[in-house]
Amino acid sequence: MTHSLTTRKLTHQYLIPTYGRFDLEIVRGSGSRVWTETGKQLLDFGAGIAVCSLGHAHPEVGKAVAHQCTQLLHTSNLYYTRPQAELARQLINIVGADGKVFFCNSGAEANEGLIKLTRKFGDAKRYEMITFQGSFHGRTMAGISATGQEKVKKGFAPLVPGFVHVPYGDLEAVRAAIRPETAAILVEPIQGEGGIRIATGQFLQGLRRLCDEHNLLLLFDEIQCGLGRTGDWCGWKSIAGESVIPDGIAWAKGIANGLPLGAFWVSSRNCTDRGALCDLLGLGSHGTTYGGNPVVCAAGLVVLEVIEKENLLKNALELGAYCREELRTIQSPAITDIRALGLMIGIEFGIALDSLLPSTPEDPRPPATRLAMALISEGLLAIPAGERVLRFLPPLNVTRFEIDEAVEKLRRILQTPGSVLSHP
Ligand SMILES: *Cc1c(COP(=O)(O)O)cnc(C)c1O
Repeated sequence: MTHSLTTRKLTHQYLIPTYGRFDLEIVRGSGSRVWTETGKQLLDFGAGIAVCSLGHAHPEVGKAVAHQCTQLLHTSNLYYTRPQAELARQLINIVGADGKVFFCNSGAEANEGLIKLTRKFGDAKRYEMITFQGSFHGRTMAGISATGQEKVKKGFAPLVPGFVHVPYGDLEAVRAAIRPETAAILVEPIQGEGGIRIATGQFLQGLRRLCDEHNLLLLFDEIQCGLGRTGDWCGWKSIAGESVIPDGIAWAKGIANGLPLGAFWVSSRNCTDRGALCDLLGLGSHGTTYGGNPVVCAAGLVVLEVIEKENLLKNALELGAYCREELRTIQSPAITDIRALGLMIGIEFGIALDSLLPSTPEDPRPPATRLAMALISEGLLAIPAGERVLRFLPPLNVTRFEIDEAVEKLRRILQTPGSVLSHP
């Protein structure tokens, strides 16, 4: 009987209505493209929110996952499993500094782990974490408490105590916020949900210096910007090179091409009288049932391997720069800024977009969302960040041809005289 109901109807009837979804049902993907249930093809420059780094249905990911499923899908962390140990070793290679890794299931949980590490590090005397306005750190209670955006917190008080938010990029504000209770600074080297805001090298170096002076942990949320997205394995290294080494890193999104996996890394540096930082979360102090199971880790391993083998860091860097230059050729007063690091690309729009795509009483959604809808009608998926920024986050193996196509679609919307999509 349920067969006769559309997916949209079933979703509205049976799913808790937390998501504002675009009116699109996706059934299949291949590379940088997806298809809807009616056979419409779209170029996917969202990649599942910076997740599908190798694109959709990559044959090597499919093969590795399918093979692991025939061997062992899950055993819990009561036992040793090879893919988990191998992936941890690979991730530590990527950081280029000694440390250890914990596997979880999502970005929010990776940050949650760093928050718990901070509390252990503070040893009941220090507990406070400095985070930034416009940041996004996930939807758990500690995640929304850490996040510097009011909209995710509304209705969920009381929040987890111990978080202060200061303006992004403002070193003096950070210095002024440090108190005897402060234990850590958590920062996105490039803010994703906040609209592709890129920290400067000076800012990251300054944070490191403040952390050293005050014995604080420097924690990087690389969930969106990490693992190749910016053209470097480490988002912060595209900005500050080897001049900064954090004490902890959270990863998720790009780590396993869509299988649910998150991880955090902790430095092995000594923390005063209590041994290595990475051993502070000791036996029995943290855990998860699924975290780092053999299948998701097999996917993670093949993702890292293919990025290396196919030179995709270089591709992300070069095609990111190419995309930025092509976007700059769009003659539109609506574009007020283009910010990009590798294939983490943000296009900011001013008030001129509102007259091009006016909101209506039936559709009061913000301009960036209306633009994303207009682009869907052109056959392009892109992702809004806040009210006025549109993100391009294509797979790392995107081609020049696909970038040309995406830029042309955006150009068509922005340069069509009158409002292409205003309701008749
Ligand atoms: C997406 C994201 C998160 C949350 O990850 P989930 O997997 O959705 O829990 C946290 N931090 C940043 C920077 C993100 O982009």
